[in-house]
Amino acid sequence: MRVEILGGGSEIGRLAVHVSVNGANVLLDYGINFDENDIPQLPLHIEPKRVDILTLSHAHLDHIGAAPLLYISSNIKVYTTKVTRDLVKPMFEDFLNISGYHLPFEYYEVNKLVQNVETVRYGDIIDEGNIRLEFASAGHIPGSMMTIIHGKRKSLIFTGDVNTIDTNLVKGASFNGVKAEYLILEATYADATHPPRDQVEKRFIEAVKEVLENNGIVLIPAFALSRSQEILCVLKKYGIEPVFYDGMVREINKILLSNLDFLNEKTLFEDAIVAYNEVRGWYIRKHILDSPCVIVASAGMLKGGPALYYLKRIYENEKNAIFLVSFQAPNTPGYNILATGSWGEGGVRVKARVEWFDFSSHAGKRELMEIVKSIENLEKVIIVHSEYEPASKLAQNIMEELGIEVIVARNGMRVELED
Ligand SMILES: [Zn+2]
Ligand SMILES: [Zn+2]
Repeated sequence: MRVEILGGGSEIGRLAVHVSVNGANVLLDYGINFDENDIPQLPLHIEPKRVDILTLSHAHLDHIGAAPLLYISSNIKVYTTKVTRDLVKPMFEDFLNISGYHLPFEYYEVNKLVQNVETVRYGDIIDEGNIRLEFASAGHIPGSMMTIIHGKRKSLIFTGDVNTIDTNLVKGASFNGVKAEYLILEATYADATHPPRDQVEKRFIEAVKEVLENNGIVLIPAFALSRSQEILCVLKKYGIEPVFYDGMVREINKILLSNLDFLNEKTLFEDAIVAYNEVRGWYIRKHILDSPCVIVASAGMLKGGPALYYLKRIYENEKNAIFLVSFQAPNTPGYNILATGSWGEGGVRVKARVEWFDFSSHAGKRELMEIVKSIENLEKVIIVHSEYEPASKLAQNIMEELGIEVIVARNGMRVELED
């Protein structure tokens, strides 16, 4: 068994891992990252003829963003869940609109990718030539899956992005009774401890209520896929009204409504969509700011979209609030508002209340250690989707506490394993 890291080595995102076993070649994700000028960064090149099967762990662009590239000259079979397949087109529509100029593929290749999808369910086992694949829930976002590759005697688990904590939207991944010799583990939060989820929810709801009671507007910039729906569920659970949602979240909501099987609190999500208001056009968009309300809008880091439109209209009033609920990459407007209290080129001062809430959908340090501890027969861990320093610390902890060998991946690295 040979593992080759094509992306996601000592970096968060752009995950791409090539595994050869028994003469078969599997590509696990083929994602992208953005550099500081928002130019998409592709993973290392792979010739399509070196890929027999592609599996897509979930629909975030850092896992699927470069995959259409393979379809310029091939028809590689794709295994993924139904909801991920349904999400591929809207994710790429947005991506191609914004970054199409920099991309070596077009909508034609995205379509071809989708046509080659064979959907799988959690628990499915597929024998394909000399290779056996198994799929399990990863608990990260609706439809997120782990791929398990079975060699002659040994097995390898690829987590994709993973979360073991239950959220309203998705049930956490379980590693009870799981046996594997090798683990390719995402470790976005290798060195961070997330506070308990119910505490985060309560603190968040109290803050929202304070702003509404004081006649303010709460803007919640959130990623369109998953974080927005989790926030709508939390607001609904605590009876917050009125709530509006705007941007790409509208389309994603519709796809999730037709894939309720992948959700944890299905009824809560349906109730939220019934009770809350979609912003359908400019008339509503302009008028919702006339009275106190909550607005959930994309983009999550305030780089554009309706979230930016609302920010420009509410930041000057101290009655209003901007509650950030997603990861904020350095140098994005969201990051700068948190770090400096100002935004834009001239550094305009934000008078509205600004706060960040940890609604992470990734395992933290504690949960990552638990995952490694739970898997029986584990011999080797390869850490991906993590910055180098925190990954090294986690590696140290795993080796010292559990005596398991750990490799911190780098792009271009090859690891030979017994199969
Ligand atoms: Zn990711
Ligand atoms: Zn993700």
